[in-house]
This record gives sequence, C-alpha cells and structure tokens, in this order.
Amino acid sequence: MILKNRCFWMSLLFGLFLTSFVAFGAEKLTMVTEATFPPYEYRDGEKILGIDPEIVRMVAQRNGLELVIMDMNFDSVIAAVQTGKADVAASGITVTEERKRMVNFTTPYVSARQVIIVPEDSPIKEVGQLKGRRIGAQHGTTGAQYVTDHIQEPERFANAALAVSALLAKKVDCVVLDDAPSKVFLTKHPTLKILPEPLTSEDYAFAISKSRPELLAMFNKTLAEMSADGSLQAILDKHLTKNEGGDAAEMLTVSAVAKEAGGWEKLKQEFHINFVQDDRYMYLVNGFGITLLVAFDAVVLGILIGFIVAVIRSTADQTGRFKVLNMLCKVYLTVIRGTPVVVQLLIIYFVIFGSVDVSKLVVAILAFGLNSGAYVAEIIRSGIMSIDRGQLEAGRSLGLSYPKTMLLIILPQALKNVLPALGNEFIVLLKETSVCGFIALSDLTKGGDIIRSQTYNAFFPLIMVAAIYLAVVMLFSRFLAMIEERLKKNE
Ligand code: GLN
Repeated sequence: MILKNRCFWMSLLFGLFLTSFVAFGAEKLTMVTEATFPPYEYRDGEKILGIDPEIVRMVAQRNGLELVIMDMNFDSVIAAVQTGKADVAASGITVTEERKRMVNFTTPYVSARQVIIVPEDSPIKEVGQLKGRRIGAQHGTTGAQYVTDHIQEPERFANAALAVSALLAKKVDCVVLDDAPSKVFLTKHPTLKILPEPLTSEDYAFAISKSRPELLAMFNKTLAEMSADGSLQAILDKHLTKNEGGDAAEMLTVSAVAKEAGGWEKLKQEFHINFVQDDRYMYLVNGFGITLLVAFDAVVLGILIGFIVAVIRSTADQTGRFKVLNMLCKVYLTVIRGTPVVVQLLIIYFVIFGSVDVSKLVVAILAFGLNSGAYVAEIIRSGIMSIDRGQLEAGRSLGLSYPKTMLLIILPQALKNVLPALGNEFIVLLKETSVCGFIALSDLTKGGDIIRSQTYNAFFPLIMVAAIYLAVVMLFSRFLAMIEERLKKNE
C-alpha cells in the first residue's frame, strides 16, 4: 500500500515535472533550415530571411510562440526534427515518399520544379543531353536524387550556392536545382541560363516530427487561415515575383560586380566585397571565437580524460590492479580511435543527446574533448612507459607509496618527454574543430562558408580562413618551443 502510494506520488511529481517542461518549452518554436537557398531562406548579416522564415514566423505569432531559427546543412534538417532538436524543418523541403516515412508534412504551401542551369554558351540544350556531363547538385536534395535515379551519379555539393559557384568556375557543366533559387542566382549571373524543360514537379511543405501530431494540427490550421486571408500568397508574391528574384536578389552580393575591373583594383574590390561589405568579416571574427572556445575547452577536457586513462592503464600494466577499469579504458580507446571525429560529433548530437536540449557548444566541447582524450591518454602512457622501471622501484624503496611515486617522480618526467607529442595533438585538435558546422555551430570554417555562399568567391574566404588557422598554429608552436627551452634549462 505504502509502496503503491509512493509510486503514485512519484509519477505525479514526474508528470508535473514533464508538464512544466513542456509548458516552459512552449514559448518558443524552433525552426531548422539551411540558409543558402534564396528566396526561401538566406542570410542578411546575422538575420535569416526569406519565404520560409516569414511563413513560420507568422504561424508562430498567430499561436503566441516566439520563433527561433537554427541554420544547418540541408541533409540534417529532417534528422533534426526527427530527433527533437527542432520543432519544424522549413527549408524549401519537397514532400517525398521516403521523407514521409521519417516525418509528417504539413499541407504544401507552394509548388516547385527542378531545373537545369547551364552557362549561356553551353552545348547542353535539353535534358536528353545530360548523360555523361558533369552534373552538379546539392547533396541530400530531390534534385540530386533525380539525377542519381534517372541519369548518373551527380557531383554533390553541400549547398546550392556552392554548386552554382562550381558551375561559374567551370568545375561542372550544369547544375540541377529548384526553380526559384535558380532564378535568384541567375539575376546575378547573366552568363548563366535555365533550360526551358524542367526535370520534375514537386510540392514544398514543412516537416514536423511524427511524435508531435498536435504541432502538425496547429500548423495546418494556421496555414489554412493564412491561405484564406491571403497572407500566405502575399509572402510568396513578395519574394517570388518582384524582378524574378524578389528581395533575395537585391541582397545577394556577387563578385560579378568586381568583374569589370582588372588586376590589383579587382583584388581590392573582391577583398572589399568578401570582408568589408555588410561587415562580413564579423562571420570570421565570431567564428574564430567559437573555434578557440571549443578547442580550448576540449583540450582541457582531453588532458583530464587522457591523464586519468593513462594512469589507470599504466598502473594496471605495472601492478595488475584496476582490471575492470582498464578494460573500460581499452574499450574507450578502441571506439574513439576507430571512428572519425565527425561521426562521433554527429552521434553525440543526434543520438546521445537526441531528445535533450543541450547547447551545441557543450556537445562540440564534449565530442572533441572525448576524442582528444583518447590520443592524449596514449601519449601520456607512452611517456610513463619511457621512464625506467628502476625509478619506480627507487621511489618505492624510499618509502613513497605507489600514487606518490607516480605523481612526484614518474609523471613529471613523463610529461616533459611527451610535451612535443602533446603539442602536436592540440594542433590537430584545433583544426579538427573545423567540422563544427555539421551541427550548425558557426565556427571559423563555417564563417568562411557563409561568406562564400553570399559572394560566390571561392578564393578569398578560403585563403583567409586558412591564414587564420595557420597564424594560430604558428603562434602556438612558438609558445611550445619556448616552454621546451625553459624545461631544458631547468634540467
Ligand atoms: N526542394 C529540394 C529538396 O527538398 C531542395 C531543398 C533545399 O535545397 N533547401 O530536396
């Protein structure tokens, strides 16, 4: 009886806890998108504008919710709603049977087509001539799927803007892309054209997790109201019709402007467009901050984990203690060293913290810290092993306990020996954080990508990003060399 009562109270408390959680979360509506798809979604400075944000914001407002937008790779947006990372995916998403198995779709809000973009003077005149050409498409889209199913494997790009810049750079012969974004890109690139015959007809809708039928109902109800009162059409008209590209076309600043000038003047203009105009350098500055923050915290976490694992492993080797812990450490080392860090990052984000709301920064620090810990552990262990066993025995015979001998005699010497290897590990880690963009964290690399998606210049943003990493690594190497020098003098 008492037990039953306790169960009752516990479930009541738990229920209350859950409700408070839901009620608390209900204030915000999180939308996930990939903001390089004008006029549906694009960046203007820190803001994300376009048809999708506007419609979803109106849905949110009419239901008393505040809209929060997350920017992610398109191939992750559906997974993000499926795993509860976001409430709704709004990214010019085509309704398809495969996607319907994973998520629910709202009523479609617009229809679209996949079209083919080619250079003005291209020998490709119709769909039938695509086979055997280099066809660019955006990874994870219906366009890429169509090409795979009906023509051949396409060249896959992370987003539409990159595919178009590849076309401009003559890296591909044509690009398969949705019609409205194609038109926007064309307004800025008069050297490109769209083939008259489209590849497909499709419908766009918003994607919502299967476990949120109430949210789906809310969306459908509000969308129906917006369609009845004309506000939906007004948003579409505003972006789709105005000089073909709508608002987005005005905002896209393309290096084409600098095409007129030549040589040095051109370089100066390009530099201006890529970094100064619209304060684009801020993407790099903010991204750099994130990169440093993640790398620094991950290093600290990595050292902590590495240190503990190394001590457990070598103690087990030398004294036969900690058998179970040693086993666990071995599993950890095998798994972490046997899988790529991007995969670990994605697993931690989408699987381990799948339905928990935890900051992306924390996820990144955890992922890189855990990853680095495995390498640091082996580095420190090799340092410990390099110390003559006689030292351990000497320490013990002086009456020091094992932990004390380890801490006072073995570890300081071991650390000194492995300092160059540790430094190297930190350099690797700093650069590895460049995959943060996979979980929508705007680190330095992603900052450069955002600039590239706006200016279509492959050269400047990439070189600048590379130069910043290089500068940090060089500074750090100097710093390490100084410490080594110091240590040598102390000998
Ligand atoms: N409509 C396409 C799809 O759903 C492309 C969308 C996009 O790139 N944002 O696959």
